[in-house]
Amino acid sequence: MSRPFLRAVTPLVPSVPDARFCGHCGQPPRDPQLTARVCDRCHLGMVLTAAQDLAPNGREPFLVVDRQLAVCAMSRSAERLLSVEEPDAVNRLLTDFLVPADADTTAQNALLALVVEAASGAAGVTRTVVRPAGEFGVFFEARIGIVGPPPAALVVLDG
Ligand SMILES: [Zn+2]
Repeated sequence: MSRPFLRAVTPLVPSVPDARFCGHCGQPPRDPQLTARVCDRCHLGMVLTAAQDLAPNGREPFLVVDRQLAVCAMSRSAERLLSVEEPDAVNRLLTDFLVPADADTTAQNALLALVVEAASGAAGVTRTVVRPAGEFGVFFEARIGIVGPPPAALVVLDG
């Protein structure tokens, strides 16, 4: 009687280590063992976790967006870039601040679909090109993926 082989299964999605960073200043916690939810550098942002290839490095501007496409948090550098303060941005739509580089409806829907998928837990990081709402001629490559807690979409603009 033959017995089935036991063999290692290669995961379909390569596992990327997670990175922790502050939702306001974008920096990793000063104390890598930090268990508090609030950043130990600026004391203003919550500590978030995302895949290392998604997490902002240094001063890259970013926004955290929920499944309803509402802004939950915005980094200090994004506040400067988009000329808005986080308290005035929270609960407003992502598209009040960032829109696809292409003005057409298909591009708009594609961007929103990427954000909803990421906020709903889709694995991996997707890339697209966006521009600040109401501005033409200024483009940013953006990467989008899941961040938490709680699960939401992270939109990082390439610095
Ligand atoms: Zn901070």
